[in-house]
Amino acid sequence: MAEETMSLLSGQKPVLRFAPSPNGRLHLGHALSAIINHDMAKAIAGRFLLRIEDIDLARCTDELEQGIYEDLAWLGLNWELPVRRQSDHFDVYREGLDRLIAMGVAYPSFMSRGDVKAFVTDHEAGGRIWPRDPDGALHYPALDKQRTEHEVSALLSSGKKHAWRLDMDKGLALLETPLQWRETGRGSDEVIDADPAAWGDVVLSRSDAPSSYHLSVVMDDAVQGVTHVVRGMDLYHATSVHRLLQELLGLPAPEYHHHRLILDDTGNKLSKSRGSASLQVLQEQGLAGSDIRGLLGI
Ligand code: GLU
Repeated sequence: MAEETMSLLSGQKPVLRFAPSPNGRLHLGHALSAIINHDMAKAIAGRFLLRIEDIDLARCTDELEQGIYEDLAWLGLNWELPVRRQSDHFDVYREGLDRLIAMGVAYPSFMSRGDVKAFVTDHEAGGRIWPRDPDGALHYPALDKQRTEHEVSALLSSGKKHAWRLDMDKGLALLETPLQWRETGRGSDEVIDADPAAWGDVVLSRSDAPSSYHLSVVMDDAVQGVTHVVRGMDLYHATSVHRLLQELLGLPAPEYHHHRLILDDTGNKLSKSRGSASLQVLQEQGLAGSDIRGLLGI
């Protein structure tokens, strides 16, 4: 499938996208990503799309979405309309999830974060190490996969809170060829071996949102015909999961370009939660949008 995909891509107009979440104001890291996407799209006569990743309905707000438009306009960028907003497309992600369920590679998981933590603490009390994913989060235990069908349907019909997860082993078992992606983030065109198993059974649909980051990104990149995914190095390892979902769902594989991150004085990547200065604050301090490229070394 991968070869077909590449030849298909070579005849297409390049499509790039910047895909922020409106759960805080944009900072310099976002500005770097948006500008690189915008400039690369221009350089290869491609399209530049903006996608609002707002599946987390509790944290994303219309006001912050407006802030994204203001900040990007301040940076001097322009993007195609209409903007795709993920919260308008939960039916698309549900359809993807249903296909994975029908293929037998998705299962409902009932353990809360606290349950998982307690399970792992217990496991590690004996000196054994429990696996963590590339972001440091605990792998999900296999307990829910050992339930009988009867037990699972009883739990589902009782209305017990659950997420849907990918059964990583079963998903990997369906692959017919090695899982790889094309990466241009290090200057040359490389083929990277994907390692989705490093993530364990990732979430496909959250208990508090009818999708997950991984599933909606993969479905949207396909729906929007994205040919080049350009994003920060913090999402490099997530690409392994995205490639697996693309293969399972029969979706095309874009090329990937993971760019450098902007770090703060303490060497951490900028983040909304650590209170990194937002573009809005820089603007209030008197900077012009056109100063930002210089500040970022572009
Ligand atoms: N919404 C993600 C973020 O804000 C980016 C997703 C992506 O580029 O694939 O970090």
